[in-house]
Amino acid sequence: MDLKGKKVLVVGLGKSGLAAALFLRRRGAQVTVSDVRSAEALAREIPALIQEGIAVEAGGHGLLTFRRQDLIVVSPGVPVDTPELVQVRSFGLPVIGELELAARFLQGKVLAITGSNGKTTTTTLAGEILKESGLPTLVGGNIGVPVVALIDDSKPEGWSVLEVSSFQLETTNEFHPAIAVILNITPDHLDRHGTFENYALAKERIFARQTADDFLVLNADNPRAAEAASRAPSKVYWFSAHHSVPQGAWVENGQVVFLVSEGGQPEPILAVDAIPLKGLHNVENTLAAVCAARLAGCPAASVRSAVEKFKAVEHRLEFVSTINGVDFYNDSKATNVDATEKAIAAFPGGIHLILGGKDKNSDYTALAPLLRERVRAVYTIGSAAQKIESHLRGVVPLHSCQTLDNAVKSAANAARPGDIVLLAPACSSFDQFESYEHRGRVFKELVHEAQGFNICQH
Ligand code: ADP
Repeated sequence: MDLKGKKVLVVGLGKSGLAAALFLRRRGAQVTVSDVRSAEALAREIPALIQEGIAVEAGGHGLLTFRRQDLIVVSPGVPVDTPELVQVRSFGLPVIGELELAARFLQGKVLAITGSNGKTTTTTLAGEILKESGLPTLVGGNIGVPVVALIDDSKPEGWSVLEVSSFQLETTNEFHPAIAVILNITPDHLDRHGTFENYALAKERIFARQTADDFLVLNADNPRAAEAASRAPSKVYWFSAHHSVPQGAWVENGQVVFLVSEGGQPEPILAVDAIPLKGLHNVENTLAAVCAARLAGCPAASVRSAVEKFKAVEHRLEFVSTINGVDFYNDSKATNVDATEKAIAAFPGGIHLILGGKDKNSDYTALAPLLRERVRAVYTIGSAAQKIESHLRGVVPLHSCQTLDNAVKSAANAARPGDIVLLAPACSSFDQFESYEHRGRVFKELVHEAQGFNICQH
């Protein structure tokens, strides 16, 4: 793809939009960026862009700006049905995402991981395993490092391990991972994708351009992910935390095992007890990473040592502190109902659960059985509180706390030694916080304050 002299519009100036604009400019394109935010809101980014010779349109999108281009690169945060994009697409203008742009220039092989939950954990772990095996490895994508930032023409060998979201996959055409992983598909982002099936089909784009030489790794226990096998053009491998699979990774007699081809002998990789992460969902993530890494050629010994050394990624069932016998866990990244279910299931009981934030059109009634079994009380916060309370009334005691500060204090006060205070809110954070990271950091500060005041009095 020759970008020299091409007119390219980058829509949305988030982290990946900014990286895409700079990449395009350095490859000789005439670049304009367009963002709905005002010039004041973009005051930090604009001078650097202008200095690079990039034109900026702030405060909204002009249709003329869109029509004058050869190519449009759209950020994952911008809905594909934005009217200007729908219009220019109807004129035949190519509209791609930063992932697709980068994929056209990335050298070496790609291991791409998607799923509703577990992407960051599995991507980080797979990256660590490949590095431990001595393979040249870069890690990026939705995980925070834009994929264009990984492009290095001087290093044609090696692997790019990429976390890819449904939003990024929506705007791919030629993206072609040698190994693709779908961890699970459960309801999420229905506010953006409209229906569960649309969302699932966006995820399936991860393998749309694969060939018979490529691999697709699927969760045998997740019905919607498993169903994708019937449409895969590539070799399908499976993982399961519950039973054996025809080829792939599973748990047998307390061991993670891997079977490279049907009819062979499963090879033991490591003891399940040696996985340093909490919860069955993290056994699933480990199985997926092990399977992908073995397919990438990593030796079993390197896989084992990388898994054993791995630490929970921040804000993912992260242990914060014990105060007077009460353990506090930060799972701020549990931004949907399925992730919250997995977080609750990671503990046998005695949980004080903080729920709420910005609703994503979710059905919280799904939490009821696990709440009855393991949760002593729910502490609600944020704009989704009323909906959550109406879905869960009568299931367990509910406390309306409005803010995270109140919720931590109330939960810490009510908890007895041996109990757990868990932030796993099942909602996004944007009503009260900048991001889930911000929410998680505030939670940890509040816990440390509670520790200072010794607020758990039992
Ligand atoms: P993602 O990048 O897909 O959001 P993370 O690894 O950041 O995934 O984890 C997000 C949330 O989902 C965390 O709260 C974590 O506890 C939970 N989670 C992690 N892995 C899984 C899984 N395999 N299934 C369900 N929930 C998971």
